[in-house]
Amino acid sequence: SLSQRLQDVFKNLRGHGTLTEENIREAMREVRLALLEADVNFRVVKDFIASVTEKAVGREVLKSLAPGQQVIKIVHQELVELLGGSSVELELGGRKPVVIMMVGLQGSGKTTTSGKLARRLQGEGKKPYLVPADVYRPAAIDQLTVLAGELEVPVHPSRTDQDPVDICRQAVARAGELGCDILLVDTAGRLHVDQELMEELSRIKTALQPAEILLVADAMTGQDAVAVADKFHQDLSLTGVVLTKLDGDARGGAALSIKKATGRPIKFVGLGEGLDALEVFHPDRMASRILGKGDVLSLIEKAEAAIDKEKAEDLNRKLRQDGFTLEDFLDQIKQVRKMGSLEQIMGMIPGMGRLKQLQNMPKPDERELTKVEAVINSMTKKERRNHAIINASRRARIAKGSGTQVQDVNKVIKSYTEMLKMMKKMRGKPGGLGGLMGGG
Ligand code: GDP
Ligand code: MG
Repeated sequence: SLSQRLQDVFKNLRGHGTLTEENIREAMREVRLALLEADVNFRVVKDFIASVTEKAVGREVLKSLAPGQQVIKIVHQELVELLGGSSVELELGGRKPVVIMMVGLQGSGKTTTSGKLARRLQGEGKKPYLVPADVYRPAAIDQLTVLAGELEVPVHPSRTDQDPVDICRQAVARAGELGCDILLVDTAGRLHVDQELMEELSRIKTALQPAEILLVADAMTGQDAVAVADKFHQDLSLTGVVLTKLDGDARGGAALSIKKATGRPIKFVGLGEGLDALEVFHPDRMASRILGKGDVLSLIEKAEAAIDKEKAEDLNRKLRQDGFTLEDFLDQIKQVRKMGSLEQIMGMIPGMGRLKQLQNMPKPDERELTKVEAVINSMTKKERRNHAIINASRRARIAKGSGTQVQDVNKVIKSYTEMLKMMKKMRGKPGGLGGLMGGG
Protein backbone atom coordinates (compact mmCIF):
# COMPACT_ATOMS: atom_id res chain seq x y z
CA SER A 1 0.00 0.00 0.00
CA LEU A 2 0.98 3.61 -0.42
CA SER A 3 1.27 4.19 3.30
CA GLN A 4 3.42 1.11 3.84
CA ARG A 5 5.62 2.16 0.97
CA LEU A 6 6.10 5.66 2.32
CA GLN A 7 6.78 4.31 5.77
CA ASP A 8 9.54 2.12 4.38
CA VAL A 9 11.05 5.12 2.63
CA PHE A 10 11.04 7.11 5.81
CA LYS A 11 12.42 4.29 7.86
CA ASN A 12 15.48 4.43 5.63
CA LEU A 13 15.69 8.17 5.97
CA ARG A 14 15.56 7.94 9.73
CA GLY A 15 18.94 6.26 9.68
CA HIS A 16 20.63 9.43 8.46
CA GLY A 17 21.92 12.02 10.88
CA THR A 18 21.53 14.91 8.48
CA LEU A 19 19.81 15.10 5.18
CA THR A 20 21.68 15.66 1.95
CA GLU A 21 20.14 16.69 -1.33
CA GLU A 22 20.97 13.23 -2.62
CA ASN A 23 19.06 11.58 0.28
CA ILE A 24 16.01 13.64 -0.51
CA ARG A 25 16.12 12.91 -4.20
CA GLU A 26 16.48 9.22 -3.46
CA ALA A 27 13.52 9.30 -1.11
CA MET A 28 11.49 11.25 -3.64
CA ARG A 29 12.14 8.61 -6.29
CA GLU A 30 10.55 6.11 -3.92
CA VAL A 31 7.67 8.40 -3.10
CA ARG A 32 7.11 8.94 -6.80
CA LEU A 33 6.97 5.20 -7.48
CA ALA A 34 4.72 4.62 -4.52
CA LEU A 35 2.29 7.31 -5.67
CA LEU A 36 2.24 6.00 -9.21
CA GLU A 37 1.60 2.51 -7.92
CA ALA A 38 -1.22 3.92 -5.81
CA ASP A 39 -2.77 4.98 -9.10
CA VAL A 40 -2.23 8.69 -8.70
CA ASN A 41 -2.30 10.58 -11.98
CA PHE A 42 1.27 10.98 -13.28
CA ARG A 43 0.98 14.74 -13.80
CA VAL A 44 -0.21 15.11 -10.24
CA VAL A 45 2.74 13.03 -9.06
CA LYS A 46 5.18 15.14 -11.03
CA ASP A 47 3.97 18.40 -9.54
CA PHE A 48 3.81 16.88 -6.11
CA ILE A 49 7.38 15.59 -6.18
CA ALA A 50 8.69 18.87 -7.55
CA SER A 51 6.98 20.81 -4.83
CA VAL A 52 8.14 18.53 -2.00
CA THR A 53 11.71 18.36 -3.30
CA GLU A 54 11.95 22.11 -3.56
CA LYS A 55 10.73 22.56 -0.01
CA ALA A 56 12.85 19.76 1.45
CA VAL A 57 16.09 20.70 -0.30
CA GLY A 58 15.69 24.37 0.39
CA ARG A 59 15.10 23.90 4.07
CA GLU A 60 17.76 24.01 6.75
CA VAL A 61 17.83 20.86 8.76
CA LEU A 62 16.60 21.56 12.24
CA LYS A 63 18.86 20.03 14.84
CA SER A 64 15.99 19.18 17.18
CA LEU A 65 14.11 17.21 14.56
CA ALA A 66 15.13 13.99 12.89
CA PRO A 67 15.64 14.87 9.23
CA GLY A 68 13.47 11.98 8.09
CA GLN A 69 10.69 13.33 10.26
CA GLN A 70 11.11 16.66 8.62
CA VAL A 71 10.62 15.20 5.18
CA ILE A 72 7.58 13.30 6.40
CA LYS A 73 6.23 16.58 7.69
CA ILE A 74 6.76 18.26 4.33
CA VAL A 75 5.20 15.33 2.46
CA HIS A 76 2.30 15.46 4.88
CA GLN A 77 1.78 19.19 4.41
CA GLU A 78 1.93 18.84 0.65
CA LEU A 79 -0.52 15.94 0.71
CA VAL A 80 -2.91 18.06 2.74
CA GLU A 81 -2.61 20.82 0.15
CA LEU A 82 -3.15 18.40 -2.69
CA LEU A 83 -6.23 17.01 -0.97
CA GLY A 84 -7.74 20.46 -0.71
CA GLY A 85 -6.33 22.01 2.46
CA SER A 86 -9.33 21.89 4.74
CA SER A 87 -12.76 20.31 4.76
CA VAL A 88 -15.55 22.04 2.86
CA GLU A 89 -19.17 22.16 3.99
CA LEU A 90 -22.27 21.66 1.91
CA GLU A 91 -23.63 24.86 0.38
CA LEU A 92 -27.14 25.02 1.76
CA GLY A 93 -27.97 28.71 1.50
CA GLY A 94 -30.41 30.24 -0.94
CA ARG A 95 -34.01 29.63 -1.83
CA LYS A 96 -35.85 26.70 -0.24
CA PRO A 97 -36.02 23.91 -1.03
CA VAL A 98 -32.29 23.74 -1.58
CA VAL A 99 -31.44 21.15 -4.23
CA ILE A 100 -28.58 18.68 -4.01
CA MET A 101 -28.11 16.72 -7.20
CA MET A 102 -26.21 13.45 -7.08
CA VAL A 103 -24.51 12.43 -10.31
CA GLY A 104 -22.10 9.68 -11.31
CA LEU A 105 -21.65 6.40 -13.10
CA GLN A 106 -23.81 3.37 -12.44
CA GLY A 107 -22.69 1.52 -9.34
CA SER A 108 -20.62 4.39 -7.98
CA GLY A 109 -22.90 4.69 -4.95
CA LYS A 110 -25.31 7.54 -5.81
CA THR A 111 -28.40 5.93 -4.34
CA THR A 112 -26.63 4.74 -1.21
CA THR A 113 -24.99 8.11 -0.74
CA SER A 114 -28.33 9.89 -1.19
CA GLY A 115 -29.64 7.81 1.70
CA LYS A 116 -26.54 8.50 3.78
CA LEU A 117 -26.80 12.23 3.17
CA ALA A 118 -30.50 12.23 4.03
CA ARG A 119 -29.65 10.56 7.30
CA ARG A 120 -26.91 13.04 8.02
CA LEU A 121 -29.05 16.09 7.20
CA GLN A 122 -31.89 14.69 9.25
CA GLY A 123 -29.47 14.40 12.16
CA GLU A 124 -28.70 18.09 11.74
CA GLY A 125 -32.37 18.94 12.10
CA LYS A 126 -33.00 19.47 8.41
CA LYS A 127 -35.95 18.07 6.49
CA PRO A 128 -34.67 16.23 3.43
CA TYR A 129 -36.87 14.95 0.61
CA LEU A 130 -35.52 12.05 -1.43
CA VAL A 131 -36.19 12.13 -5.17
CA PRO A 132 -35.52 9.03 -7.28
CA ALA A 133 -34.87 10.33 -10.80
CA ASP A 134 -33.37 7.22 -12.37
CA VAL A 135 -36.25 6.05 -14.55
CA TYR A 136 -34.28 3.53 -16.60
CA ARG A 137 -34.01 0.85 -13.99
CA PRO A 138 -37.23 0.16 -12.04
CA ALA A 139 -35.15 -1.27 -9.22
CA ALA A 140 -33.44 2.09 -8.78
CA ILE A 141 -36.65 3.79 -7.64
CA ASP A 142 -37.43 0.88 -5.33
CA GLN A 143 -33.94 0.96 -3.85
CA LEU A 144 -34.18 4.59 -2.79
CA THR A 145 -37.77 4.15 -1.63
CA VAL A 146 -36.70 1.32 0.66
CA LEU A 147 -33.81 3.38 2.07
CA ALA A 148 -36.20 6.29 2.65
CA GLY A 149 -38.51 3.94 4.53
CA GLU A 150 -35.69 2.81 6.79
CA LEU A 151 -34.77 6.40 7.51
CA GLU A 152 -38.35 7.60 7.79
CA VAL A 153 -37.56 10.33 5.29
CA PRO A 154 -40.24 11.24 2.75
CA VAL A 155 -39.58 10.05 -0.78
CA HIS A 156 -41.09 11.19 -4.05
CA PRO A 157 -43.42 8.67 -5.75
CA SER A 158 -41.52 8.71 -9.05
CA ARG A 159 -42.62 6.45 -11.92
CA THR A 160 -40.49 4.92 -14.64
CA ASP A 161 -42.78 6.27 -17.37
CA GLN A 162 -42.11 9.88 -16.38
CA ASP A 163 -39.51 12.27 -17.70
CA PRO A 164 -36.85 12.89 -15.04
CA VAL A 165 -37.22 16.64 -15.39
CA ASP A 166 -40.97 16.41 -14.78
CA ILE A 167 -40.30 14.24 -11.74
CA CYS A 168 -37.94 16.87 -10.39
CA ARG A 169 -40.36 19.75 -10.99
CA GLN A 170 -43.17 17.90 -9.26
CA ALA A 171 -40.83 16.98 -6.44
CA VAL A 172 -40.00 20.62 -5.77
CA ALA A 173 -43.70 21.43 -5.40
CA ARG A 174 -44.31 18.37 -3.26
CA ALA A 175 -41.34 19.14 -1.00
CA GLY A 176 -42.87 22.57 -0.38
CA GLU A 177 -46.19 21.02 0.60
CA LEU A 178 -44.47 18.60 2.95
CA GLY A 179 -42.39 21.34 4.57
CA CYS A 180 -39.11 19.80 3.39
CA ASP A 181 -36.19 22.16 2.95
CA ILE A 182 -33.68 20.03 1.03
CA LEU A 183 -34.21 18.01 -2.13
CA LEU A 184 -31.82 15.12 -2.66
CA VAL A 185 -32.04 14.12 -6.30
CA ASP A 186 -30.71 10.66 -7.13
CA THR A 187 -30.09 10.70 -10.87
CA ALA A 188 -29.50 7.94 -13.39
CA GLY A 189 -26.04 6.64 -14.20
CA ARG A 190 -24.55 4.70 -17.06
CA LEU A 191 -21.67 2.29 -17.14
CA HIS A 192 -19.70 4.88 -19.13
CA VAL A 193 -20.03 8.58 -19.61
CA ASP A 194 -22.36 9.18 -22.56
CA GLN A 195 -23.81 12.23 -24.23
CA GLU A 196 -27.45 11.32 -23.77
CA LEU A 197 -26.98 11.04 -20.03
CA MET A 198 -25.10 14.32 -19.85
CA GLU A 199 -27.91 16.05 -21.71
CA GLU A 200 -30.49 14.69 -19.34
CA LEU A 201 -28.46 15.78 -16.34
CA SER A 202 -27.99 19.23 -17.86
CA ARG A 203 -31.76 19.54 -18.32
CA ILE A 204 -32.30 18.65 -14.67
CA LYS A 205 -29.67 21.15 -13.69
CA THR A 206 -31.32 23.93 -15.70
CA ALA A 207 -34.74 23.13 -14.28
CA LEU A 208 -33.69 22.88 -10.64
CA GLN A 209 -30.71 25.22 -10.29
CA PRO A 210 -29.10 22.98 -7.67
CA ALA A 211 -27.02 24.51 -4.90
CA GLU A 212 -24.85 21.41 -5.02
CA ILE A 213 -24.00 19.03 -7.83
CA LEU A 214 -22.06 16.25 -6.18
CA LEU A 215 -20.21 13.71 -8.23
CA VAL A 216 -20.28 10.31 -6.56
CA ALA A 217 -17.09 8.51 -7.55
CA ASP A 218 -15.90 5.02 -6.72
CA ALA A 219 -12.42 5.23 -5.16
CA MET A 220 -11.71 1.65 -6.21
CA THR A 221 -11.61 2.70 -9.85
CA GLY A 222 -8.51 4.84 -9.34
CA GLN A 223 -7.51 6.94 -12.33
CA ASP A 224 -10.75 6.11 -14.14
CA ALA A 225 -12.55 7.96 -11.37
CA VAL A 226 -10.40 10.98 -12.15
CA ALA A 227 -11.20 10.86 -15.87
CA VAL A 228 -14.89 10.53 -15.06
CA ALA A 229 -14.71 13.47 -12.67
CA ASP A 230 -13.04 15.53 -15.35
CA LYS A 231 -15.80 14.79 -17.87
CA PHE A 232 -18.69 15.40 -15.47
CA HIS A 233 -17.09 18.62 -14.37
CA GLN A 234 -16.74 19.87 -17.95
CA ASP A 235 -20.40 19.24 -18.71
CA LEU A 236 -22.07 20.09 -15.42
CA SER A 237 -19.73 22.25 -13.33
CA LEU A 238 -19.61 20.14 -10.23
CA THR A 239 -19.60 21.74 -6.80
CA GLY A 240 -18.01 18.80 -5.03
CA VAL A 241 -17.20 15.12 -4.93
CA VAL A 242 -18.16 12.21 -2.72
CA LEU A 243 -15.55 9.50 -2.83
CA THR A 244 -17.11 6.13 -2.04
CA LYS A 245 -15.77 2.68 -1.13
CA LEU A 246 -12.71 3.96 0.67
CA ASP A 247 -13.32 1.13 3.12
CA GLY A 248 -12.18 -1.41 0.52
CA ASP A 249 -8.63 -1.69 -0.67
CA ALA A 250 -8.82 1.48 -2.72
CA ARG A 251 -5.29 2.75 -2.94
CA GLY A 252 -6.10 6.36 -2.28
CA GLY A 253 -4.84 7.53 -5.65
CA ALA A 254 -8.22 8.84 -6.69
CA ALA A 255 -8.49 11.03 -3.62
CA LEU A 256 -5.12 12.54 -4.42
CA SER A 257 -5.89 13.28 -8.05
CA ILE A 258 -9.55 14.25 -8.11
CA LYS A 259 -9.23 17.57 -6.35
CA LYS A 260 -6.39 18.52 -8.62
CA ALA A 261 -8.21 17.41 -11.77
CA THR A 262 -11.48 19.22 -11.10
CA GLY A 263 -10.45 21.94 -8.69
CA ARG A 264 -13.53 20.88 -6.74
CA PRO A 265 -13.35 19.68 -3.14
CA ILE A 266 -14.03 16.18 -1.94
CA LYS A 267 -16.76 16.86 0.58
CA PHE A 268 -17.53 13.40 1.91
CA VAL A 269 -16.13 9.91 1.86
CA GLY A 270 -18.10 6.66 1.90
CA LEU A 271 -16.67 4.04 4.22
CA GLY A 272 -19.13 1.19 3.94
CA GLU A 273 -22.51 0.06 2.75
CA GLY A 274 -24.38 1.07 5.89
CA LEU A 275 -26.30 4.33 6.02
CA ASP A 276 -24.04 5.63 8.78
CA ALA A 277 -20.85 5.03 6.79
CA LEU A 278 -20.41 8.57 5.49
CA GLU A 279 -17.88 11.00 6.86
CA VAL A 280 -16.87 14.57 6.19
CA PHE A 281 -13.64 14.53 4.22
CA HIS A 282 -10.72 15.94 6.19
CA PRO A 283 -7.61 16.46 4.05
CA ASP A 284 -5.25 16.44 7.03
CA ARG A 285 -6.64 13.21 8.38
CA MET A 286 -6.60 11.60 4.96
CA ALA A 287 -2.97 12.63 4.60
CA SER A 288 -2.18 11.06 7.97
CA ARG A 289 -3.99 7.94 6.96
CA ILE A 290 -2.02 7.75 3.73
CA LEU A 291 1.18 8.17 5.69
CA GLY A 292 0.10 5.38 8.00
CA LYS A 293 -0.32 7.34 11.16
CA GLY A 294 -3.89 6.27 11.60
CA ASP A 295 -6.82 8.53 11.95
CA VAL A 296 -6.96 9.14 15.64
CA LEU A 297 -8.85 12.41 15.35
CA SER A 298 -11.73 10.82 13.46
CA LEU A 299 -11.88 8.12 16.05
CA ILE A 300 -12.01 10.53 18.94
CA GLU A 301 -14.67 12.61 17.23
CA LYS A 302 -16.71 9.54 16.57
CA ALA A 303 -16.36 8.28 20.09
CA GLU A 304 -17.33 11.65 21.48
CA ALA A 305 -20.39 11.93 19.28
CA ALA A 306 -21.61 8.48 20.17
CA ILE A 307 -20.80 8.20 23.82
CA ASP A 308 -22.78 9.89 26.44
CA LYS A 309 -20.09 11.60 28.50
CA GLU A 310 -21.67 10.90 31.85
CA LYS A 311 -22.27 7.29 31.01
CA ALA A 312 -18.69 6.91 29.89
CA GLU A 313 -17.37 8.39 33.11
CA ASP A 314 -19.64 6.16 35.09
CA LEU A 315 -18.38 3.20 33.11
CA ASN A 316 -14.80 4.18 33.71
CA ARG A 317 -15.40 4.45 37.40
CA LYS A 318 -16.93 0.99 37.46
CA LEU A 319 -14.08 -0.45 35.47
CA ARG A 320 -11.72 0.85 38.07
CA GLN A 321 -13.77 -0.44 40.97
CA ASP A 322 -14.66 -3.96 39.94
CA GLY A 323 -18.30 -2.93 39.56
CA PHE A 324 -18.64 -3.73 35.87
CA THR A 325 -21.83 -5.75 35.48
CA LEU A 326 -23.55 -7.41 32.55
CA GLU A 327 -25.79 -4.32 32.44
CA ASP A 328 -22.72 -2.20 31.83
CA PHE A 329 -21.54 -4.73 29.30
CA LEU A 330 -24.83 -4.27 27.44
CA ASP A 331 -24.46 -0.49 27.65
CA GLN A 332 -21.01 -0.73 26.23
CA ILE A 333 -22.13 -2.88 23.33
CA LYS A 334 -24.81 -0.33 22.54
CA GLN A 335 -22.23 2.45 22.59
CA VAL A 336 -19.90 0.51 20.30
CA ARG A 337 -22.78 -0.04 17.89
CA LYS A 338 -23.44 3.67 17.79
CA MET A 339 -19.83 4.28 16.84
CA GLY A 340 -19.95 2.06 13.78
CA SER A 341 -18.41 -1.31 13.26
CA LEU A 342 -15.53 -2.36 15.46
CA GLU A 343 -13.53 -3.15 12.37
CA GLN A 344 -13.99 0.37 11.10
CA ILE A 345 -12.96 1.74 14.46
CA MET A 346 -9.88 -0.46 14.67
CA GLY A 347 -8.81 0.71 11.24
CA MET A 348 -8.51 4.22 12.56
CA ILE A 349 -6.09 3.31 15.30
CA PRO A 350 -2.39 3.39 14.46
CA GLY A 351 -1.10 -0.17 14.33
CA MET A 352 -4.63 -1.38 15.19
CA GLY A 353 -4.13 -0.28 18.77
CA ARG A 354 -5.24 -2.00 21.90
CA LEU A 355 -8.72 -2.76 20.69
CA LYS A 356 -7.22 -5.75 18.94
CA GLN A 357 -7.67 -7.52 22.24
CA LEU A 358 -11.39 -7.07 21.83
CA GLN A 359 -11.26 -9.67 19.10
CA ASN A 360 -11.69 -12.23 21.84
CA MET A 361 -15.22 -10.92 22.09
CA PRO A 362 -17.84 -12.50 19.87
CA LYS A 363 -17.25 -11.41 16.30
CA PRO A 364 -18.75 -7.95 16.21
CA ASP A 365 -21.06 -8.38 13.29
CA GLU A 366 -24.46 -6.78 13.63
CA ARG A 367 -26.36 -10.05 14.02
CA GLU A 368 -24.05 -11.20 16.79
CA LEU A 369 -24.42 -7.93 18.64
CA THR A 370 -28.19 -8.17 18.31
CA LYS A 371 -28.00 -11.64 19.81
CA VAL A 372 -25.86 -10.45 22.71
CA GLU A 373 -28.36 -7.70 23.40
CA ALA A 374 -31.25 -10.15 23.28
CA VAL A 375 -29.53 -12.53 25.68
CA ILE A 376 -28.72 -9.85 28.23
CA ASN A 377 -32.19 -8.37 27.89
CA SER A 378 -33.66 -11.73 28.86
CA MET A 379 -31.74 -11.83 32.13
CA THR A 380 -33.27 -10.61 35.35
CA LYS A 381 -31.85 -7.55 37.05
CA LYS A 382 -30.32 -9.78 39.67
CA GLU A 383 -28.60 -11.92 37.07
CA ARG A 384 -27.24 -8.92 35.23
CA ARG A 385 -25.74 -7.57 38.39
CA ASN A 386 -24.26 -10.84 39.55
CA HIS A 387 -23.43 -13.23 36.77
CA ALA A 388 -22.24 -15.85 39.24
CA ILE A 389 -25.83 -16.89 40.01
CA ILE A 390 -26.58 -17.80 36.39
CA ASN A 391 -26.69 -21.58 36.67
CA ALA A 392 -27.73 -24.18 34.11
CA SER A 393 -31.48 -23.80 34.58
CA ARG A 394 -31.22 -20.03 34.43
CA ARG A 395 -29.19 -20.33 31.24
CA ALA A 396 -31.87 -22.51 29.69
CA ARG A 397 -34.56 -20.00 30.65
CA ILE A 398 -32.55 -17.07 29.25
CA ALA A 399 -31.96 -18.94 25.99
CA LYS A 400 -35.66 -19.62 25.63
CA GLY A 401 -36.61 -16.06 26.51
CA SER A 402 -34.20 -14.54 24.01
CA GLY A 403 -34.89 -17.01 21.22
CA THR A 404 -31.30 -18.22 21.26
CA GLN A 405 -29.44 -21.40 22.22
CA VAL A 406 -27.85 -22.19 25.56
CA GLN A 407 -24.44 -22.03 23.89
CA ASP A 408 -25.21 -18.45 22.84
CA VAL A 409 -25.91 -17.59 26.45
CA ASN A 410 -22.69 -19.31 27.48
CA LYS A 411 -20.81 -17.36 24.85
CA VAL A 412 -22.14 -14.04 26.09
CA ILE A 413 -21.22 -14.82 29.67
CA LYS A 414 -17.80 -15.99 28.58
CA SER A 415 -17.16 -12.80 26.58
CA TYR A 416 -18.24 -10.79 29.54
CA THR A 417 -15.95 -12.58 31.98
CA GLU A 418 -13.12 -12.37 29.48
CA MET A 419 -13.69 -8.69 29.18
CA LEU A 420 -13.58 -8.42 32.97
CA LYS A 421 -10.21 -10.14 32.94
CA MET A 422 -8.92 -7.89 30.22
CA MET A 423 -10.15 -4.81 32.06
CA LYS A 424 -8.31 -5.94 35.13
CA LYS A 425 -5.10 -6.26 33.15
CA MET A 426 -5.48 -2.88 31.52
CA ARG A 427 -6.71 -1.04 34.54
CA GLY A 428 -4.45 1.74 35.62
CA LYS A 429 -2.53 1.81 32.37
CA PRO A 430 -2.79 5.33 30.97
CA GLY A 431 -4.61 5.38 27.65
CA GLY A 432 -6.05 1.94 28.27
CA LEU A 433 -9.50 1.01 27.06
CA GLY A 434 -11.10 2.96 29.87
CA GLY A 435 -9.30 6.09 28.77
CA LEU A 436 -10.33 5.59 25.20
CA MET A 437 -13.98 5.09 25.93
CA GLY A 438 -14.09 7.95 28.37
CA GLY A 439 -12.30 10.43 26.17
CA GLY A 440 -9.70 11.06 28.87
P1 GDP B 1 -25.59 3.78 -7.89
O1 GDP B 1 -25.81 2.88 -9.07
O2 GDP B 1 -24.61 4.87 -8.19
O3 GDP B 1 -26.86 4.33 -7.34
O4 GDP B 1 -24.91 2.91 -6.76
P2 GDP B 1 -25.55 2.24 -5.45
O5 GDP B 1 -25.85 3.28 -4.43
O6 GDP B 1 -26.67 1.34 -5.84
O7 GDP B 1 -24.31 1.40 -4.92
C1 GDP B 1 -23.72 0.35 -5.66
C2 GDP B 1 -23.10 -0.64 -4.69
O8 GDP B 1 -22.02 -0.05 -4.00
C3 GDP B 1 -24.06 -1.10 -3.62
O9 GDP B 1 -23.87 -2.47 -3.40
C4 GDP B 1 -23.67 -0.31 -2.40
O10 GDP B 1 -23.97 -0.98 -1.20
C5 GDP B 1 -22.19 -0.17 -2.60
N1 GDP B 1 -21.61 1.01 -1.94
C6 GDP B 1 -21.97 2.30 -2.04
N2 GDP B 1 -21.18 3.10 -1.29
C7 GDP B 1 -20.28 2.30 -0.70
C8 GDP B 1 -19.16 2.52 0.20
O11 GDP B 1 -18.82 3.65 0.60
N3 GDP B 1 -18.48 1.41 0.59
C9 GDP B 1 -18.83 0.17 0.16
N4 GDP B 1 -18.08 -0.86 0.60
N5 GDP B 1 -19.84 -0.08 -0.68
C10 GDP B 1 -20.56 0.97 -1.10
MG1 MG C 1 -28.78 4.18 -8.12
